[in-house]
Amino acid sequence: MLREDLTFVGTCDIAGLVRGKGFPSTELPARRKSGIGWTHSNLMQTCFGPILDTPFGTAGDLMIVPDPSAEVHVDFRDGSAPEHFFLGDVRNTDGSPWECCVRAFLRRAIEALNEAAGLELLAAIEQEFIFTGVEDVPGHAYSLSAFRRQGVFGEMLMAAIRAAGVHPDSFLAEYGPRQFEMTVAPNAALPAADAAVIAREMARGAAFRLENRAIFSPMPVADGSGNGVHIHFSLHDASGAPVTRDPNGPMELSAVAAHFAAGVLRHLPALCAVTAPSPVSYMRLTPNRWAPTVADLKLQDRGAALRICPVFDAVDEEQRDAQFNLEFRVCDATASPYMALGALIFAGADGIRKRLALPPSEATLPISLTAALDLMDASAAMKSWFGPVFFEAYLRHKRSEAAYVADLPAEELCARYADVY
Ligand code: GLU
Ligand code: MG
Repeated sequence: MLREDLTFVGTCDIAGLVRGKGFPSTELPARRKSGIGWTHSNLMQTCFGPILDTPFGTAGDLMIVPDPSAEVHVDFRDGSAPEHFFLGDVRNTDGSPWECCVRAFLRRAIEALNEAAGLELLAAIEQEFIFTGVEDVPGHAYSLSAFRRQGVFGEMLMAAIRAAGVHPDSFLAEYGPRQFEMTVAPNAALPAADAAVIAREMARGAAFRLENRAIFSPMPVADGSGNGVHIHFSLHDASGAPVTRDPNGPMELSAVAAHFAAGVLRHLPALCAVTAPSPVSYMRLTPNRWAPTVADLKLQDRGAALRICPVFDAVDEEQRDAQFNLEFRVCDATASPYMALGALIFAGADGIRKRLALPPSEATLPISLTAALDLMDASAAMKSWFGPVFFEAYLRHKRSEAAYVADLPAEELCARYADVY
């Protein structure tokens, strides 16, 4: 078969989808600088495809410039076209970052944390999904039988993640029917977000090659199990030393980690508009799903918004400090990992800057995307993190999406999102 090697450059946009363009790989040297052409209204493409509302109209040119540190070249060795793509930055035509670039948003958050405290955040992102290549049978949860029945999918997925330059940590059959979970090793925030996008795409890529799907929608069916995205994180000083733990602090949190957590809890109801950014996200954030419903911080509790994770088999304080981490559970795969991680870091950095104390009571989380967007709209802090242009564009995008599906019954709503994610 006559074939030409192709490369794709894209970004995981505010719809949480990787979009961009491909070109012959022979053009890569030139494309490393000029990237691919993009336009402002691409940001307004909803997850369903159409642009329903846009402040940008049809005007304007941008480029997505590939980041050499986010290159994926994975040959599944089954005769299919290799996965060759770069994640990149959306830039103005003069090369400066575009104010609505999701990776620029995360970089600004990283900088805000550095300015507030001279700290860096490391993250490891855990993602749940449905693999359609197995039947729904009783006894699936965590079972060896389910692990076996997925056949070679798990091996393909772990190999692809590794070949993509990401360190795989675990793969398991989760609680729900046909539900699986994958985790990758911790990394600095930007590569951790890249890794989450890459792992998602490798799961989709492996499933696709098996003529199946990996479905990451937070609620694939209305009465089923939710698919969460859990962000584990820890704080580190300029020398790389962990500073999240203090054995004498509340729940062993260091003062700076307690401020960070307080910032996240303070902003959390509004933050949901970014970390749980679809109507179906709010079907997951309901009682008895091992998913959060209030802005709480709990020790080793998987129902909490912020969970303090256990330390396993540590022999000394140094090992305890190194393992100690928190888990942010109010996130799902309809969010771009750059946006979710960026919002989390901005909120935590604000908590540190204002030396916020842990709240005495728990705010409830919004129960719909529309309610979350209203909270975001009223948040001066979030507006300052986004900047005015991105803030308006984000709200308009998400409001138009919410309105588009507002009249769908729950089952159909879930099906529409499961088709996309
Ligand atoms: N599936 C749950 C969620 O939607 C999480 C289950 C777990 O604790 O791993 O977040
Ligand atoms: Mg899980």
